[in-house]
Amino acid sequence: MAGIVVIGAGQAGASLVARLRMKGYAGAITLIGAEGVPPYQRPPLSKGYLLGDLSAERLFLRPESFYADQGIVLRMGAVVDGIDPARQEVSLDGAALPYDQLALTTGARPRRLPAAIGGDLAGVHVLRGLADVDAMAPEVAPGRRVVIVGGGYIGLEAAAVAAKRGLDVTVVELAPRILQRVAAAETSDYMRALHIAHGVRVLEGVGLERLSGEGHVTGARLSDGRELPADFVIVGVGVMPDTALAGDAGLYLDNGIATDAQGRTSDPRIWAAGDCASFPSHGGRLRLESVQNAIDQAELVADNMLDGARDYAPVPWFWSDQYDLKLQIAGLNTGYDRVVVRDAPGARSHWYFKGDGLLAVDAMNDPRAYMVGKRLLEAGRSPSAGAVADAGSDLKALLRA
Ligand code: NAP
Repeated sequence: MAGIVVIGAGQAGASLVARLRMKGYAGAITLIGAEGVPPYQRPPLSKGYLLGDLSAERLFLRPESFYADQGIVLRMGAVVDGIDPARQEVSLDGAALPYDQLALTTGARPRRLPAAIGGDLAGVHVLRGLADVDAMAPEVAPGRRVVIVGGGYIGLEAAAVAAKRGLDVTVVELAPRILQRVAAAETSDYMRALHIAHGVRVLEGVGLERLSGEGHVTGARLSDGRELPADFVIVGVGVMPDTALAGDAGLYLDNGIATDAQGRTSDPRIWAAGDCASFPSHGGRLRLESVQNAIDQAELVADNMLDGARDYAPVPWFWSDQYDLKLQIAGLNTGYDRVVVRDAPGARSHWYFKGDGLLAVDAMNDPRAYMVGKRLLEAGRSPSAGAVADAGSDLKALLRA
């Protein structure tokens, strides 16, 4: 038996192989990753690890010995050149590796700025992997000036770390407001105020025209003509699903590697999960970029590879730590027509509704609002907007109502 091969040793790949063994699969398992380290957690990269509070070993999801103990062959620093679906083979560093079933957990790649506008200058960093943060670490020193391009989660989490470390920080966001892709104006406003209170300059509705410098970046020219001096630059302008191998193998792509509800690609022996995979949802397709999705979808795919038949129907959740703020998000706000604000001492939550139906909750230092919102969403229930807005009401009572 050739067994199961998993390409991509991030959170999804690591969760998938561990689940296969947990469910009693006794065949061969090979997990292949291009990076030279065992699978690790990414969320702390733009938080504690960038701050210097965590060692790289603390990021590893499991010690390297786990894989050997479980009979999982972990191929680190190994690059897959191609997949031959007809022969059921993967070409790995020039050698053929056969599979009975294959899973693609190839993740996503950060978008970079074009070389034509200075994106290839030294001192211009992306923040996606351990090596990216290690390369950036010497730059992050008090008093230095950093320009952060993109006001999404990466940009804002990096801004919080840099401000905490005593750097001079400017965030440049092309859209009219930070977090526009993921949050309502109410949440953007709250986060903007937080960053400004920590001394971060937040420039919105303005693009980057080009980065300047001879060899190393020294400045950024904005679309409104402003020139910002920069000792280094962090680019957080989104990610692209890594579909290269899948595309070359002729698999169907649609905003990522397209799967059915159970995680199968257009080839029934090949599965996909995590940031790279798009799955059917509410008549369309959805691709989620979150650690929760990487774990849950990968575990579902593992179960289905072993004769399960479960459909993927997540209530997504996310979180972000910035300064002393914990932002927790339950659900997806796509299509909302109203945001109800709940103000409590030291806490705030924004509840997204479409008509009377609850879609999502953004909770800022309000774990109770997050928990109640998430449970309501999981149960497919909606509270009344009035009860939510009344800061004196008992939120937990909504679960009993
Ligand atoms: P993101 O959430 O897509 O945000 C990128 C931001 O950059 C968007 O607001 C985008 O605006 C803006 N942008 C794009 N091109 C720009 C330009 N030329 N100049 C200025 N701004 C520009 O992506 P990200 O922050 O890079 O994060 C990457 C991935 O990691 C995402 O999936 C994110 O969710 C995930 N992540 C999650 C967490 C968390 O859950 N806590 C933390 C870190 C990262 P437009 O929308 O107008 O394009």
